[in-house]
Amino acid sequence: MNIHEYQAKTLFEKFGVPTSKGVAVKSAAEIDSALAQFPEGIVVVKAQIHAGGRGKGTFIDGFQGGVKVCKSKDEAKTIAGKMLGNTLVTKQTGPAGRKVQTLYFSNASSIKKEYYLAILLDRISSRPVIIASTEGGMEIEKVAHETPERIFKVFIDPAYGLADFQIRQLTFQLGLNPAEQKSAAKLIRNLYNMYWETDASMVEINPLVTTKVDTVEALDAKVSFDDNALFRHADLVAMRDLNEEDSKEIEASKFNLNYIALDGSIACLVNGAGLAMSTMDIIKHFGGSPANFLDVGGGASKDQVVAAFKIILGDPHVKGIFVNIFGGIMDCNVIALGIVEAIKEVGLKLPLVVRLEGNNVVAGKKTLADSGLPITSGNSMADAAQKIVKLVA
Ligand code: ADP
Ligand code: MG
Repeated sequence: MNIHEYQAKTLFEKFGVPTSKGVAVKSAAEIDSALAQFPEGIVVVKAQIHAGGRGKGTFIDGFQGGVKVCKSKDEAKTIAGKMLGNTLVTKQTGPAGRKVQTLYFSNASSIKKEYYLAILLDRISSRPVIIASTEGGMEIEKVAHETPERIFKVFIDPAYGLADFQIRQLTFQLGLNPAEQKSAAKLIRNLYNMYWETDASMVEINPLVTTKVDTVEALDAKVSFDDNALFRHADLVAMRDLNEEDSKEIEASKFNLNYIALDGSIACLVNGAGLAMSTMDIIKHFGGSPANFLDVGGGASKDQVVAAFKIILGDPHVKGIFVNIFGGIMDCNVIALGIVEAIKEVGLKLPLVVRLEGNNVVAGKKTLADSGLPITSGNSMADAAQKIVKLVA
């Protein structure tokens, strides 16, 4: 689960991570009272969407920049009016962009230099890693590619926690002066506590800045949490913004389906993540493109299959459906019954290819055949994939 910058900054304050102060608004009516809380002078207006690269983004009406440093409150109000409700396209949003439904007004910081700081889980070493760089405010992937020597990493043994010498090593590598080092050490310590205690999967500050008075602070904040740990963080779950999520994905999460919307035309209904990946691959291999990743899991019920089908059919981009089931724990007939029931409820105007294999496959195939529905059967993954690609072409 991702949260907005303004929400992440309230967590920063709670954990003692210095950051610029600000106020969020969700409607034009709130703008005046929000700006009244700032002294006359410079105000920064920041579009709140779950994607980075806002500063260099462009709104679909041509207006440039989702982060604007304004000279006065009047200017901030005008800029806010242009951003709120507008759709911002950044490197991370895809061409459709994201509608800006929240704005954040913030104090301007007196920036001396911009840095990069993040904490995330390193899968290879199975440890949290702190990543820091002297190149802030840019895409870290680009820095890693072009100037990897400017990126510093510290791996943390979860049994010992983050050691002081590791923090000193980082602040030294970043080339900070003694006063900045002291401020940064405290920030890194508190940020790590936040990462750990909130079960975050990532906290990223880009840029982390040094100020003219030799302190450090977080100007931007990107935080995401491990979904599997959310059950113990009701306060964090309350920050979920459904506006930022795909409505089909929200519906899928209600039924415990692993669903991710993609931009192709062939919907996939599969059991098991590995099979889902190879199903997407084989569709691509034969020249098609998947409309989603949908894993109904090992022990899916008929209701889940019906829900899955409805979600798939609710996507206007879908031109055909490929059901690929390997019955291990899954009973093929449960899937077949779910498909038949779903089609009875919502109808079927699209080609459907089903490949069933494994546990109770004979009964499953019989259920489909007896239904009288126009279902194409695939004998193998390759056969079924070729058939659906041909049918949607
Ligand atoms: P994004 O990463 O989505 O583009 P940021 O919050 O990193 O958004 O803002 C982009 C740039 O805008 C920053 O690198 C920084 O130079 C400037 N900026 C952001 N917030 C402030 C602020 N409070 N004061 C001064 N400059 C800021
Ligand atoms: Mg940023």
